Amino acid sequence: MAKYSNIANVSLSVAVWLAHDEYDYNDDPNTLSVTSLIKPIREIVLSRRIQVDDGFEPDPIEVIGQVASSMGTAFHESIERSWRSPKLVETLVLLGTPRSVAKRIKINPTAEMMEADPKIIPVYMEQRASRKVGKYTISGKFDFIKAGRLEDFKSTSTFTYVNKTNDKKFQLQGSLYRWLNPDKITDDYMAIQFIFTDWQAARAKSDPKYPQTRVLEYPIELHSVMKTDRYVKARLKQMDDLVDTEQQYLPDCTPEELWQKDPVFKYYKNPATAAKGGRATKNFMTLLEANQLKAKNGGVGVVKTVFGEAKACNYCKACSICEQRDRLIEEGILCIMV
Ligand code: SF4
Repeated sequence: MAKYSNIANVSLSVAVWLAHDEYDYNDDPNTLSVTSLIKPIREIVLSRRIQVDDGFEPDPIEVIGQVASSMGTAFHESIERSWRSPKLVETLVLLGTPRSVAKRIKINPTAEMMEADPKIIPVYMEQRASRKVGKYTISGKFDFIKAGRLEDFKSTSTFTYVNKTNDKKFQLQGSLYRWLNPDKITDDYMAIQFIFTDWQAARAKSDPKYPQTRVLEYPIELHSVMKTDRYVKARLKQMDDLVDTEQQYLPDCTPEELWQKDPVFKYYKNPATAAKGGRATKNFMTLLEANQLKAKNGGVGVVKTVFGEAKACNYCKACSICEQRDRLIEEGILCIMV
């Protein structure tokens, strides 16, 4: 396990909360979690090299960088506690559920319980399932299933919702949970339950694209179990094929995997302004449009491509050995977070 650094000088009372980790890690190198299987292939391959290298000392983790993850864990634990509370029936009644129905809801009932009482309405929470594929075991713990529909609790910024940055990832993650639990997840749609950490009521009033409420349900269609099975097998084969490949020949993380915004193409009529880092004459979404304006101005000026900042490396398990990360820093595209 990596040690923690505390450059930001977070007080010990809070630092202990941020460094506390109850995740049920599995040391078996052939056991892969759902969350690691959906990471970029470069990260998967390189992080496994760190795992198998016994003498390797990973970089310490800056404790302040754990805020989002600790907040996410706190939300999950709190929701789970509320559903497991002896007060659950009363809470459901207060929310309008008929008492007779509320009493039938059982959390994580066993198959025997379901058989003995067919009236049980099952709610499954935080259950780990695993499945063997060749020498590998894929394992994952879903958040919540009710009436055959998977729900995933995400405490995140409104940016993720507005820009749909993680939709594909959410879809794949949910599909993998269904692939692991086809008996429990029977709905073709899952629901992301967003809990926004930066929601502003004033913005909701002025911008219809902004989430209109602080907590919001967002449905996502899942891949079929068969398609997901093909994905798993292809991913594992890709991992095996690249296991000894030198870093320079590994696929680079894509802009999407690096959480980069789209590049901006800046046209400067006066090249001296560009050299000084001044304001562009006009910004474009495509290089073609920027070059067209330059051509219209008789070829005078320069076009500069400004790439969106990469952020994912700051949360990547392979960052201490990844050469692409070094390149991104050199190019000024990756900003190291402290
Ligand atoms: S450090 Fe960055 S570039 Fe390297 S594998 Fe991780 S996310 Fe990809």
